[in-house]
Amino acid sequence: MSSPLHLFRHAVPFTGYPYRGEGMACNLCGGAEALTVAETDRRLKRLRSVACTGCGLIRTDPMPTAAELEAYYASAYRAAYQFALGRRPPRHHLNRSRREAAFRAELLAPALRPGARVLDFGSGSGEFLAAARARGCAVTGVEPGRSYATYARAEHGARVLDRLDALPADEVFDVVTVHHVLEHLRDPVDTLARLADRLAPEGVLYAAVPNMAATGKPPHERFHFAHVHGFVRDTLDRAARRAGLTPDPGYWREDTTAVYRRSAAPVQAEPGPAGPGLARELAAALAPVRPGAYLASGAWLGPMVRRNAKAIRDTFASR
Ligand SMILES: [Zn+2]
Repeated sequence: MSSPLHLFRHAVPFTGYPYRGEGMACNLCGGAEALTVAETDRRLKRLRSVACTGCGLIRTDPMPTAAELEAYYASAYRAAYQFALGRRPPRHHLNRSRREAAFRAELLAPALRPGARVLDFGSGSGEFLAAARARGCAVTGVEPGRSYATYARAEHGARVLDRLDALPADEVFDVVTVHHVLEHLRDPVDTLARLADRLAPEGVLYAAVPNMAATGKPPHERFHFAHVHGFVRDTLDRAARRAGLTPDPGYWREDTTAVYRRSAAPVQAEPGPAGPGLARELAAALAPVRPGAYLASGAWLGPMVRRNAKAIRDTFASR
């Protein structure tokens, strides 16, 4: 799967990705009906995304199988964005992670008290674990990417497990975080529920995903092969509700970055299907732009310049 031809097929614009996929019901509401919201991704490759008409959750259609996603991460994703096994993550990656970790730690400051037990699901190279430990917390990471996990253990001396169920069954945490991970999963709603189960009674759960309703970017810039689910504020809150969580008003929030705690009442009854309203709104907001028209418009220039400026800043930022 990682032959040069395979990598090439992941990179050529206007072609589809080399995968078959499978039909999948909505992970949030179980609905099968959906509206197409995009046919193209940020590399201008063909990639179909749909919004569930029952709840508005966006998913890739057809959904890559578990094996196809695994193959993608093992080859193309790592070649394109990650670092080779056993080496240090690139500096621009570390600088970005460090900035994000500092922001997350500041947001969660009231909960990151000395002695607090902290779990970061998808802990990557461990920058948030380091930031929480600097505040006196007892930190645990879960990270399936072996090179990242190895780096976090070596660099930060952190406890990092390769999967959630490697934790002792009764171990719970005062703070659980999941930052830009759920959108990569085939079963984000179940995963959120399993994370909520790990909360101590007064614990808080921070969840952040890309906001598919964000403005200021051309719609297709929001789609990425590795992001098999797409959320907006409403669907993230709905997923949290399914997990028995409710937004904690004591914390700052912005759209799809939120801090939740257990609902006071036992899990509320599902508020019923949202209906096709949200899916229709998303289809309109994300209306596919014809690649030719997009290229001719020059609208790609701004994002490209911004992205490069960011990469340059991350590369040269001092440690
Ligand atoms: Zn749904």
